[in-house]
Amino acid sequence: MSSDKIKIGILGATGIVGQNYIKLLVGHPWFEITDVAASPRSAGKPYAEVVKEKWQMSIEIPGNIRNLMVRDVQDFASLKSDISFVFSAMDLPEKEATKAIEFKYAEEGIPVISNSSANRWTPDVPMIIPEINHHHIDIIPIQQKYRGFSKGFVMVKPNCSIQSYMIPIYALEKKGYKVEKMIVTTLQAVSGAGYPGVPSLDMIDNIVPFIGGEEEKSEQEPLKILGKVGEKGIINDDSIQISATCTRVPVSDGHTACVNIKFKNKIPNKEDIIKIWRNFKSVPQDLDLPFAPKQPIIYLENENRPQPNKDRHNDKGMAVTIGRLRKDNIFDYKFIALSHNTIRGAAGGAILNAELLKAKGFLN
Ligand code: NAP
Repeated sequence: MSSDKIKIGILGATGIVGQNYIKLLVGHPWFEITDVAASPRSAGKPYAEVVKEKWQMSIEIPGNIRNLMVRDVQDFASLKSDISFVFSAMDLPEKEATKAIEFKYAEEGIPVISNSSANRWTPDVPMIIPEINHHHIDIIPIQQKYRGFSKGFVMVKPNCSIQSYMIPIYALEKKGYKVEKMIVTTLQAVSGAGYPGVPSLDMIDNIVPFIGGEEEKSEQEPLKILGKVGEKGIINDDSIQISATCTRVPVSDGHTACVNIKFKNKIPNKEDIIKIWRNFKSVPQDLDLPFAPKQPIIYLENENRPQPNKDRHNDKGMAVTIGRLRKDNIFDYKFIALSHNTIRGAAGGAILNAELLKAKGFLN
């Protein structure tokens, strides 16, 4: 029997992020997966057969997904006509190829909510963390107008580590405490590299001090997120400077960030900062979206927290957990922040974006 839920597809359904969508969307009140797509290598086979050696989730493959026939992402002829929108979690070698596929869906009238970095720097594509720049959805009608899309559009979510530090920075800025400089050092989990990811001999008993392209993303993507909607695209913010060092550590899930911040003018005291973080709420909470964490920022007093294996699942993996706020000898303060990279930083964050779009009338 057909349900009343909105029918959706996953592009890149066989990868780590794709599998997370399948797990997280079990029982979702609004959305139901009825299409799974991946590379031509996987196309034409039942989903369960394609992922039998690489299923990484803690649940069995859901019954309604097991027998779905995997579609080639470029096979538009067999795309079901009742698909309302797709989540894109593809990892193609060429960014331009990913961009072209995502825009082709938009042209076909299918909105795309993407995890890929391919379209993050396309000026008329909003890159959204719903607690921060929810208003950037205003660029969607502009994108549709100038690109001639009737119903489709492309929207992206940012890199998997930046929500852990940008949500707390934004919470402070919203209360009038503008941050002008930040130094961020990330300790990123292996699941961030997809499957099979980093070779085990590089990861066991080791830290890899380089992740290609990650430092540039960590430094530049916040500028678009803090930017404003212009006539033909997002105009980046230029009032914050970020220096990032990104490392890969032997943790399964959960990206940690060590952050040093310098305020522009007023410097809040420690108690005020913690109070601002604990009280922070935004549009996803006001709209009571199904994936919105009740408290987006959790501050822990214990000096040995946050820790990935204890804190990454806070509020369904959607909350940012912070600890160790203290004075900094060179900047003003430093703290440690953690967020779940494949949930808040990937599939869960994109689901929250889709819920925002649905609540604002962009998806039906
Ligand atoms: P992954 O595990 O390597 O999965 C890649 C997916 O892309 C698979 O479904 C794969 O299908 C598909 N794919 C590969 N080549 C393709 C092609 N030529 N045509 C169509 N589909 C193709 O990667 P992932 O970690 O899930 O990441 C997916 C995307 O999300 C990437 O762009 C990544 O940068 C981004 N992201 C990842 C994370 C994270 O924490 N892992 C966080 C944020 C963003 P086959 O199985 O058929 O090869």
